[in-house]
Amino acid sequence: MLHLPSPDAAQTWCQQQRSNGRTIGFVPTMGSLHRGHLSLVKRACSENETCCVSIFVNPLQFEDSKDYNAYPRNLDSDLTTLEQQGCTMVFVGSLGQFFPEIVDLQEIKTLGAGRYGRGLEGTFRPGHLDGVRTIIDRLFRTVGPVNAYFGEKDFQQTLVVSDLAAQIGYPQVIVCPTVRDESGLALSSRNALLSSPQKKQAHSIYQALLAAHQIWTTGERRPETLASTMLEILNNTDLGVEYAEIRDPTAWTETTPETPLQQAQALIAARIGGVRLIDTLRLDSRHTNETIAVAQAGSGP
Ligand code: AMP
Repeated sequence: MLHLPSPDAAQTWCQQQRSNGRTIGFVPTMGSLHRGHLSLVKRACSENETCCVSIFVNPLQFEDSKDYNAYPRNLDSDLTTLEQQGCTMVFVGSLGQFFPEIVDLQEIKTLGAGRYGRGLEGTFRPGHLDGVRTIIDRLFRTVGPVNAYFGEKDFQQTLVVSDLAAQIGYPQVIVCPTVRDESGLALSSRNALLSSPQKKQAHSIYQALLAAHQIWTTGERRPETLASTMLEILNNTDLGVEYAEIRDPTAWTETTPETPLQQAQALIAARIGGVRLIDTLRLDSRHTNETIAVAQAGSGP
């Protein structure tokens, strides 16, 4: 596996790959890799001639410098894991290297997240999805991938990124199922910051999603009732709920409480201690048990 120290070096290497007719599958990450990330890498390796991963904790998508500083970083073990997964090239970079044309990095102008940036993450983390779109735009232009792989866990991010890809004309954005631990907690780099009792509390997030899924399967279609079912569970815990909402995953407009939905995505953000967790579940699908099975098959965090 090649480990390149800058976006410039990565861009040159990727250009060579493309001129040799090799397709690139790309997985952007912030590192501290777990089996969720690796499921994306595995898929990118199997569906493309080269598999490229970036590791960059992007300050533009953190509204809070404390959160940015506390974000776990494990470059050495990430490199070992990626090599084992068959990744072809990994690159890192600094903010200055990603934006060489900007002298004062405070002056970086972020791209607007677009229509999918409205509500939920857009409300509770203002500027976050703008920062995501800005760095993913740079990363796509650096790598020039045919396919890029993202996790459904960050559902609103997948909408913003798909919108960006549609705007610039590439890559194909492939959304991969959420990998969970045996209790159903979605794997996240931030889970490393949770104590065991906090992890136990955090499991309620998936329980709440499952409860909404359950009543969906019995025919409930009203967003408000589906959301109340989730809140009933979450409000019985120490979790600080930011949102527990149901949205039409394609229209992405705010729902009218009593108007039945044809398709639905349940989305939750909650804080425990200083740690913010998000999770989601598509209610009109049957993939729930499969994603847990993926996590049980592996080992690690
Ligand atoms: P991050 O390092 O948090 O920016 O995540 C990099 C990519 O991994 C994003 O596309 C995430 O959605 C994806 N990802 C994170 N956690 C999981 C998970 N538990 N299952 C599947 N994909 C995930």
